[in-house]
Amino acid sequence: MTAGTHDEATTAEIYYDADADRTVLDDRTVAVLGYGSQGHAHARNLADSGVDVLVGLREDSDSRPAAREDGLEVATPTEAAERADVVSVLVPDTVQPAVHDSIESALSPGDTLQFAHGFNIHYGQIEPDPAVNVTMVAPKSPGHLVRRNYENDQGTPGLLAVYQDATGDAHHVALAYAEAIGCTRAGVVETTFREETETDLFGEQAVLCGGVTSLVKQGYETLVEAGYSREMAYFECLNELKLIVDLMYEGGLGEMWDSVSDTAEYGGLTRGDEVVDDHARQNMEQVLEAVQDGTFAREWIAENQAGRPSFTQLRQAETDHDIEAVGEYLRGLFAWGEE
Ligand code: NAD
Ligand code: MG
Repeated sequence: MTAGTHDEATTAEIYYDADADRTVLDDRTVAVLGYGSQGHAHARNLADSGVDVLVGLREDSDSRPAAREDGLEVATPTEAAERADVVSVLVPDTVQPAVHDSIESALSPGDTLQFAHGFNIHYGQIEPDPAVNVTMVAPKSPGHLVRRNYENDQGTPGLLAVYQDATGDAHHVALAYAEAIGCTRAGVVETTFREETETDLFGEQAVLCGGVTSLVKQGYETLVEAGYSREMAYFECLNELKLIVDLMYEGGLGEMWDSVSDTAEYGGLTRGDEVVDDHARQNMEQVLEAVQDGTFAREWIAENQAGRPSFTQLRQAETDHDIEAVGEYLRGLFAWGEE
């Protein structure tokens, strides 16, 4: 085995349509709780796949008309959970514990509690009855793509995990669910609630949402403070990021390096690690530790219980950053070319 190859130690099981047995859902009703990004996509895909579905929404939920217009039956979360054998919890993560409290008594032994993210189970915010299955099918895309791909006979890659197998066929149930929403067309990767939760939180904090916005803002500030125009700084540090990311998405780092000039390639290869250096790497390890030992989860739960005081401030500060004002103006100049 060569270092860096996709070897045994790092290879996860991947499932496709042929691995799934849809008949597992033939005599099971699925309740989808929530009709947001994931909820609407799962519910509609399940229904179009011939699965018996109902949507669970509060009496005063704004989403009720949309679900009805899409031809779906709507009930309260408790009624839906009562009637269903598989209950897919697709309300926001922060409200899932309260929703679980309200449906817990409506679950029967052998029912399946199905999630699209592991946070509440992994960090003990939901302690499910040992008599129910606890599964995860998590598409690796926002809901509108899960729906669009399904309609275009394409799939959306996803993750699958079983936390609790009360019936002995929890894995089959999850795989059938993954097939019915279109994920096994593309491939479904076996994982655990712990691995999904920890990698998801680390990725969004260190690289995707946190790391990349800090990199953009600090690059922008460095140029502006050195006397360059805000417009130039915006183009260089934010706008062009999309071109680079598109290339990496299409063909990995190699396609990006191949596409940029030799000067950009040499400059990037020599200076990248100077900017994101060993210290940044140690910070990443600390971020990961706070995810693994539950520090981040406790902080986020407490922040919500307190009414989100620092979150609200941080959001405002981000909105007020100079790069947002320049960006809004510049994007407005380009809008004439669209549509
Ligand atoms: P969302 O915010 O888009 O939708 C939530 C829906 O829940 C709302 O439309 C509403 O119908 C309902 N709802 C909102 N507040 C409620 C309350 N207080 N009580 C009861 N119902 C309420 O949520 P989402 O982004 O679809 O996330 C659902 C799950 O899917 C989460 O576990 C999330 O981590 C996971 N997930 C999301 C994505 C994504 O791209 N959005 C991707 C993978 C997994
Ligand atoms: Mg994520």
